Amino acid sequence: MAKFEPRSDITAMPKYHSPQVDVPVRLNTNESPFAPPRQWLDGLGSIVSGIDWNRYPDRLARRLRDAIALRHRVTPDNVFVANGSNEVLQTLLLTYAGPGRTVATFEPTYQLHSHIARITGSTVVSGRRNADFSLDESEIRRVVADHRPHVLFLCSPNNPTGVVEQRRNVDFAINETPGLVIIDEAYAEFADWSAMELVSEDGNVVVSRTFSKTWSLAALRLGYVIAPKTVVAQLEAVVLPYHLDAFKQAAGLSALSFVDEMDDRVRAIVAERGRINEALDAMAVQRWESGANFVLFRPTVADAEGVWTDLVDKGVLVRDCSSWPGLEGCLRVTVGTRDENEKFIEALKSIVGTRE
Ligand SMILES: *Cc1c(COP(=O)(O)O)cnc(C)c1O
Repeated sequence: MAKFEPRSDITAMPKYHSPQVDVPVRLNTNESPFAPPRQWLDGLGSIVSGIDWNRYPDRLARRLRDAIALRHRVTPDNVFVANGSNEVLQTLLLTYAGPGRTVATFEPTYQLHSHIARITGSTVVSGRRNADFSLDESEIRRVVADHRPHVLFLCSPNNPTGVVEQRRNVDFAINETPGLVIIDEAYAEFADWSAMELVSEDGNVVVSRTFSKTWSLAALRLGYVIAPKTVVAQLEAVVLPYHLDAFKQAAGLSALSFVDEMDDRVRAIVAERGRINEALDAMAVQRWESGANFVLFRPTVADAEGVWTDLVDKGVLVRDCSSWPGLEGCLRVTVGTRDENEKFIEALKSIVGTRE
């Protein structure tokens, strides 16, 4: 047997798994179906040639943080930027959780919250959402009273349910918990409210965002959190020096000058989401109201795994959530282009049939 082995808690951990199947219509990872703006793409060449490649990048990513701060009407000292919001979350957990500390989630929710928490050596405790995926104040109170978590996660809109967290739940969680409250807003631009205004200098709440979904830039790996200055300073002390490369800083900065194009894409996706909802309502499936760029649904006559396979056979990939706790029988479809959605709708209709 090898003398070197991973930590036993790591070998015991379930792996993060999202199959990358090569089919024509890929609606499984909530990416934007649209390419980023042409002008942004055209500007990348001059960005590349303008970089001092022999030098380390600006460690503080000042220009990018200035632009993000402007967008959210905060100061650059309230902005921490990293390689995707997953690295933002990892840095938050390395700083505020870890061995001997507790992280609370309310399941079902984004799997990486508990997964990254475990990797950082934190103890994970889970509250439960109701059958309709709403969350009760009494459940938040119970989890906080029983476990006194150092970090408490909320996700709004929640992935994979699409449910937008109620404002009073967010307020309640912030008031109730002595620890840090992280609101993951990866899909905020698709929803009708954001917790961003709840971030305050002396508060315990931070709000994370990403370029992966709304900004059509999943390949860039860029995300950030808006937080009190003291939190940002702590995160800067924990993250690896020069973690954000010079190209990413400049490409992200450039993306922020295409707000109108981003808004247009969001509007198009929200309209398509409405069309998918309508189509699903006519089929033998149950579906949930979504404030994001995806819709969770449950076939009512066929079994989910079979439907997932039949969809793949018809060239359409969705996410099979049916083995996740609380999501028995559920599949999640990302809103694609009109054409992709049409293919998904036709394929699903032929598999599950219309509603009785
Ligand atoms: C997609 C997603 C993210 C994005 O992660 P990145 O690392 O920024 O790509 C974060 N949180 C949730 C809930 C997501 O669904």
